[in-house]
Amino acid sequence: MTLWLLGDQLYPEAAPLQRHDSVLLVEAHEFADRLAYHPQKLTLLFAAMRHARDDLRDRGVDVTYLRAATFGDALDDYFAANPGASLTVMRPSSHGAADRLRELVESRGGSLSVVASDLFVTSPAEWDRWTDGRGDGYRQEQWYRHVRRETGVLMDGDDPVGGDWNYDEQNRETPPDDWDAPPLPTFEPDDLTREVHAFVTERYGDHWGDADLDGFPWPVTRSEALAALDQFVETRLPAFGPYQDAMLQGEWALAHSLLSPALNLGLLHPREVVDAATAAYRDGDADVPLQSVEGFVRQLLGWREFMRHAYREAMPGLADANQLGQERDLPPLYWTGDTDMACLSAAVGHVRRRGYAHHIERLMVLSNFALLYGVDPAALNRWFHLGFVDAFHWVTTPNVVGMGSFGTDLVSSKPYAASANYVNRMSDHCASCPYDPDETTGEDACPFNSLYWDFLREHEETLRGTGRMGLVYHHVDDKDDAEWRAIRDRAADVRADAANGDL
Ligand code: FAD
Repeated sequence: MTLWLLGDQLYPEAAPLQRHDSVLLVEAHEFADRLAYHPQKLTLLFAAMRHARDDLRDRGVDVTYLRAATFGDALDDYFAANPGASLTVMRPSSHGAADRLRELVESRGGSLSVVASDLFVTSPAEWDRWTDGRGDGYRQEQWYRHVRRETGVLMDGDDPVGGDWNYDEQNRETPPDDWDAPPLPTFEPDDLTREVHAFVTERYGDHWGDADLDGFPWPVTRSEALAALDQFVETRLPAFGPYQDAMLQGEWALAHSLLSPALNLGLLHPREVVDAATAAYRDGDADVPLQSVEGFVRQLLGWREFMRHAYREAMPGLADANQLGQERDLPPLYWTGDTDMACLSAAVGHVRRRGYAHHIERLMVLSNFALLYGVDPAALNRWFHLGFVDAFHWVTTPNVVGMGSFGTDLVSSKPYAASANYVNRMSDHCASCPYDPDETTGEDACPFNSLYWDFLREHEETLRGTGRMGLVYHHVDDKDDAEWRAIRDRAADVRADAANGDL
């Protein structure tokens, strides 16, 4: 039997791969005509697939590699050469994909057996056992503790190492002025990657984002991904914890791992990433503080695994969830980066340049602005999906629609909505921005402020009752009619300026 390996399932140690000596890989192109995907994302995907093909062949695996417009076209060729063949596939992460693939195979006279995915730490059965009897009331933090207990990661018998489960409060520092960001990896594209890049830029010429491969930070092979993991653990993990939420002018990565593209393609397994980080903490070589290793492990065992299962549970409704009824289009600045708002301009610039912005830019700048402005969550999801090198439907959708847009309370019981105060506290952007973070109304006031209060007022009926917004609505109640009129006027001006590309 042949294993059909999808482009985001490239992990060479996956159990099903050990049980098959032939593999089918299909590089389909037409899907990328539907959205203006970042050229670096397409280059990364196709280059990783072609390198995986060559690595598997070097290991003696018989690989059929087909390039075609669609999966259907590739399967026409495959079944013409292999009539009635039986294929196996690891369960795809995207909702409904297993059924679609089975239909494509069976309609060509073949059969498809779908086996469990070996690309995550926890299984759907584990999640089902954990959620059993919890109703909808599950939260990431409880899941995270459960996974720590089950895996024994950072555990001291039955207790968390250090006595606390979570050191989040120590993850909110901003670096001192003389801080030198640790070095970043770059991966000089080889001939094969350059060939893919030439194909991508010619085939998808007018796509959004910078096609320049100079300083390409994304590993495209398993060995590069392992090198990126080592480099992160040795040089950036120590500072990951304290500066996890910080934003600095001119620093696009700070001490983040930049491992999400490799993880999401299967070039790295999340368990080996967690093990490398905890080993560095245990061995003491790299001087990794507990707040850093715990913060990092929480992202992977907590958030990443949680999002994967939450997506499975909440689809198909999640993709269109919009409990706040937000309907605006994305303002043009998401495409042009053209705005005087220093934080927003920097974050969009980072996405355009490399298809990446770190978590706090994604959550507290890019999606916070869209949330307060009133963007339709599905439109924001499309933008993230096409613009980010690590975007795959299973992980982008719960993050954008759930966490960033509060389209549903799947991920949190209140929206991640914040005024300029947050950006001012966590970054140095406001110092060089023409907008004043301390003003709410008037032409110079930071747009985040009037939008924030206007948003709270607009969605009062839904938000006041969520239980965790009491303090915030206390401040809403303190404002008099004249203040509200001024806020409304300023918010309307901000929205009009943003819609006209004049913010
Ligand atoms: P680090 O900060 O170094 O974190 C380590 C790892 O933890 C990441 O590589 C990632 O695998 C995992 N992780 C952390 N937070 C999350 C999370 N919320 N969900 C899933 N995994 C997480 N992540 C994606 O992989 N793809 C996406 O398309 C994506 N879209 C996002 C959109 C929004 C609006 C938000 C708020 C978050 C999104 N995330 C997404 C989650 C997170 O922001 C990225 O995983 C992270 O920024 C990737 O950079 P890094 O590898 O340097 O992460």
